[in-house]
Amino acid sequence: MYTPFKHEPFTDFTVEENKKAFEAALEQVKGDLNKDHDLLVNGEHVQTEDKIISINPANKEEVVGRVSKANQEIAEEAMQAAVTSFEDWRKWSPEARAGVFFRAAAKIRRRKHEFSAYLVYEVGKPWKEADADTAEAIDFLEYYARQMIELGEGKHVESREGEQNRYIYQPTGVAVVIPPWNLAFAIMAGTTVAPLVTGNTVLLKPASNSPVIASKFVEVLEESGLPKGVLNFVPGSGREVGDYLVDHPKTALISFTGSREVGTRIIERASKVQPGQNHLKQVIAEMGGKDTVVVDSSADLDTAVDAIVVSAFGFSGQKCSSGSRAVVHEDVYDEVLERVAKVTSELSVGNASESNVYMGPVVDQAAYEKIMGYMEVGKEEGRLVVGGTGDDSKGYFIQPTVFADLDPKSRMQQEEIFGPVVCFTKAKDFDEAIEIANNTEYGLTGAVITEDRQHIERAARDFHVGNLYFNRNCTGAIVGYQPFGGFKMSGTDSKAGGPDYLALHMQAKTISEML
Ligand code: GLU
Repeated sequence: MYTPFKHEPFTDFTVEENKKAFEAALEQVKGDLNKDHDLLVNGEHVQTEDKIISINPANKEEVVGRVSKANQEIAEEAMQAAVTSFEDWRKWSPEARAGVFFRAAAKIRRRKHEFSAYLVYEVGKPWKEADADTAEAIDFLEYYARQMIELGEGKHVESREGEQNRYIYQPTGVAVVIPPWNLAFAIMAGTTVAPLVTGNTVLLKPASNSPVIASKFVEVLEESGLPKGVLNFVPGSGREVGDYLVDHPKTALISFTGSREVGTRIIERASKVQPGQNHLKQVIAEMGGKDTVVVDSSADLDTAVDAIVVSAFGFSGQKCSSGSRAVVHEDVYDEVLERVAKVTSELSVGNASESNVYMGPVVDQAAYEKIMGYMEVGKEEGRLVVGGTGDDSKGYFIQPTVFADLDPKSRMQQEEIFGPVVCFTKAKDFDEAIEIANNTEYGLTGAVITEDRQHIERAARDFHVGNLYFNRNCTGAIVGYQPFGGFKMSGTDSKAGGPDYLALHMQAKTISEML
């Protein structure tokens, strides 16, 4: 039997030995940058002329890797391989399939800092965030493998005298996986492993900002005994390869994490039945957020300040769970704002491949420009308290920024910025704070800082988000502990890392036999 699931511990970088080990990993990976990475189609490594050039957003001159790019013809070959290999893979026992991912988890655990170092180079993660991303990837492997073994038995249903009823789960077919660049390892690995361990075959199209870490992961799965054709690696453009695979009549399942715009477009396209298609496509879509930290008058203010800062600036605010809104009771508003501003002005920003900074860059030029555009909107709609500046001469650096006195319906308080920006709004009482917290089209995460038991109950019932946290930050859900997914336009509430997630990748089958 397997040991019960326990999440992967995080690394304490204040311990000198850990710091040294991480620096060594950064040095080692530096020597491995600027290499070519292949596609994987039906077990064959394929190179193409056309490449995605992945660069370090903290140092635009530094090429992290050159990744071959699929076109429609290659995508079609990969699809055929996935269709063919499904016939064998689906018959593997749950234990045998799970074994592949337990092995992969063990391999990654042994090389943990190396994977985190890739995240530092490829998406500019600070060490702590990179370490958490790798830990979460390991967690997804360990957790879903265990879940599959449990589900392999099916679930109990009643039987009458003279009949025997069974309720089992079977895989769906070919899954197209389109992960984001922000949790570049964890979500990419989690959304790939879930369809695989449940017996589907996969076409993985990584985000164009983070194809190298995805390629390293695919290598580990190959080494861990995944048969050919079961996982195909097809980086490419969304318009060319993404649309082609989403529209494909053989696609059974699409697992997407990313923007609301792309997610809703995928849902729309997937709902169209194509010639030759004889099933309905399932879509898992986890999209944006505009997440709020509510501070009540009874709040412990140290907790409030910490929750706001961590939620807003962890990985430069580039999480769909980031707390980009602080809605604060008027009795404590001035004090909380002042203290958040002070802590924010002291945060270190820089290149995490050179030192252990609190915040790295934002991911690319387009993100930089979009966020800097919002700085101007913020200055018009509210009051700039700290930050507001950026420098894209070497990398895409933006100072952590606090705006105050925003109207709850302002653009700054409604639109997803996906950068290191938090906006404050004053509430006259707790009821109004919850009303403001609920007034966006999103419903992903939220936090409430309060010492009032009734307010906790009230928020638990009425704060309409998929992940609600009390007296802490609203980011950093842990696999198996805080299943993750949102309401409203944040997505399909799939609850990644939760007990219901794998079932979304399978079809339940009722079998009734007369004895
Ligand atoms: N699961 C992550 C968290 O709880 C966020 C995922 C995302 O940003 O896509 O912070």
